[in-house]
Amino acid sequence: MVSKEEKKNRCRGALIGLAVGDALGAPVEFMSPGRFPVVTRYRSCGTHGLKPGEWTDDTSLALALADSIAIAGWDLQDQASRYTSWWMEGKYSVNGRCFDIGLTTREALVNFLRDKNALTSGVRPENSSGNGSIMRLAPVPIYFAAHFPANLRELSRLAEESSLPTHASPQCLSACRYLALVLAALIQGESREAVMAPDWQPLKELNAIQPLHPLIQEVTQGSFRRRQPPAIRGSGWVVKSLEAALWAFDDSLAFDEAVLKAVNLGDDADTTAAVCGQLAGAYWGEQGIPQALRAGLARMDLLEAALAGLGQG
Ligand code: MG
Ligand code: MG
Repeated sequence: MVSKEEKKNRCRGALIGLAVGDALGAPVEFMSPGRFPVVTRYRSCGTHGLKPGEWTDDTSLALALADSIAIAGWDLQDQASRYTSWWMEGKYSVNGRCFDIGLTTREALVNFLRDKNALTSGVRPENSSGNGSIMRLAPVPIYFAAHFPANLRELSRLAEESSLPTHASPQCLSACRYLALVLAALIQGESREAVMAPDWQPLKELNAIQPLHPLIQEVTQGSFRRRQPPAIRGSGWVVKSLEAALWAFDDSLAFDEAVLKAVNLGDDADTTAAVCGQLAGAYWGEQGIPQALRAGLARMDLLEAALAGLGQG
């Protein structure tokens, strides 16, 4: 186990790392790998008209989830309401407006506005298994890290439920359960080597609670080590997105190396890097994020407020 100070460093790293990855990847979102100059720092983003260091929906939704946990405890209705506030009013956004929303998230929030039920609003078909719930996940393992390792059942339940309001397919639920387990373990000081091993004991326990979806299980068994780009892709599909983030994190020597590897896969670059940034931030901590990337990140005040709400201010 790590010291209290080091745990805080890792918790803060997980959320700030998410936003840093998002901001680095946003300018090349939707671009094919090799079709853009290699990203090494923040750039402006023509697609959304963003300035260097500004971030997108990935971070906005994570801030909404953090705020909900801080204010309402655990309440899926409240989580969905805050996602709706972002979509409709631009709350939690970097510039006061919602300029990008994933198809699955939008469909789910339409359902939520109509039926007012966050337990049923999420999109369920397997072919709607986007990465929109793993990209915002960090507040769950940050706030509930103490459930690792003693209460994995509760950690698993919270992670799965956090996906439900928008992404209710079995692949998305499994991806959230696995990613939350890995993030909570890293926050608690488990080694990278341990958490990424196919025979990691807590992973066996997670499968004993409820088996992971076979496609997510394949990722946990090291698919990210057997493949290289172009088989590793910055895809919007949760399975490939998780695989790509783990691939970038797995053998990198530093936070920026990992996150930039994810960014330079292109396609859903901001989200691959936001997922990788959660992992890399939880592992190397806030102090492991280069100062230039922390100083250049937009609206740090919003991130600080979210971290304070999660007890990490
Ligand atoms: Mg985004
Ligand atoms: Mg994206």
